[in-house]
Amino acid sequence: MHTIYTLDEMTQTARGWLSGGSVGFIPTMGYLHEGHMSLIRASQAECEVTVVSIYVNPLQFHSREEFLDYPRNLDHDLQLLDNIDVDVVFIPSVEDMQPPAFSTAVTLHGPLAERLEAEGNSAFVGGIATTMMKLLHLMRPDIAYLGQKDAQQAAIVHQLLRDLSFDVQLRVLPTVREADGLAISSRNILLTPEERKEAAGIYQALLMGKAAIERGELQVQQIKAVILETLARYPLVSVEYLDLCDPYTFVERTELIFNTILVLAVQVGNVRLLDNILCLDGKQWRL
Ligand code: AMP
Repeated sequence: MHTIYTLDEMTQTARGWLSGGSVGFIPTMGYLHEGHMSLIRASQAECEVTVVSIYVNPLQFHSREEFLDYPRNLDHDLQLLDNIDVDVVFIPSVEDMQPPAFSTAVTLHGPLAERLEAEGNSAFVGGIATTMMKLLHLMRPDIAYLGQKDAQQAAIVHQLLRDLSFDVQLRVLPTVREADGLAISSRNILLTPEERKEAAGIYQALLMGKAAIERGELQVQQIKAVILETLARYPLVSVEYLDLCDPYTFVERTELIFNTILVLAVQVGNVRLLDNILCLDGKQWRL
C-alpha cells in the first residue's frame, strides 16, 4: 500500500494511472468502518486500482466544535486499509487543501444547495463541492464510490460531475447498518450506551414510514406524522428535519410519487446523525 501525504506526490502518482487500468476512488473522513469497507470492496471488484482519501473536511461541518470532536484514528485506518490491500491512500493536510490564500469556491444553486443539510450552513454545499473537485483533479479516478447514507452529499457530487462534465462515473451504494438497523457511522462511537440504544429508533421510524406507504398512504404530511410519532417514543432523539424529496434535486414532494427519498437528520445527545430510505416505486426500496 502506497501512502501519500502531499498534493505533488498525489499528482505525480495519478499521472501514471493510465497505464494501470481503471481507478476507483473512495473519499472518506477516516475512522473507517464497514460502510467504508463496502465501498472499497465494490471498487476492488470493479477497478484495477483502488484509492482511498482520508480528509476531515472542515468546510462540511455545522460547527467548529463538531469538526474538532469528529473521531480520528489514523493508525487504525491505515492498518485496515493495508489488510484489505488498498493500492493508494491519500491523506492531505487541511493546510494543503485550504491554504491561507485559497480563494476559489464551487457554488451550486437551487434546493439541493439550500435545503436540509445546507439550511443554516451556507458553506456546506460549497465545501463539499470545492473539496470534491480538488480531490478529483488530484486523484483522477474513473469511478467514485459514495454511500447512500449521505444522500444529499451524493446528489451534490452527482450534480457537480454532470454540470462540469467530469469524466468520472458515480456509484452510490446502499447504507450498511448495525444489527438493530442503525446506519453505521464514525459518529456512533460518540453516543452514550443509552443514546446508542435509542438511536436504533431512527431506522425503525423510517420503516414505519415505509409501512404507511406500502399500505397506500400518499400524503406526505401523513407519512411524516407516522415517522415523527415513532420517533417521539425515543426521548433522547430530537428531530432536526424530516423531509420527502427528489433524491437528485432535493425538491420537496407534496405527494408521494416514484423515486422519493425519506431523509432525516436528528440530534442524539451531542451527536448529529443522518439517515434515509429511498422509495423507488412503492414496492421497491433502497434501505
Ligand atoms: P465519511 O467518512 O462519513 O465522510 O463517509 C465516506 C463515504 O462513506 C461517504 O460516501 C459515505 O456516504 C459513505 N458511508 C458512510 N457510512 C456509510 C454506511 N453506513 N454505509 C454505506 N456507506 C457509508
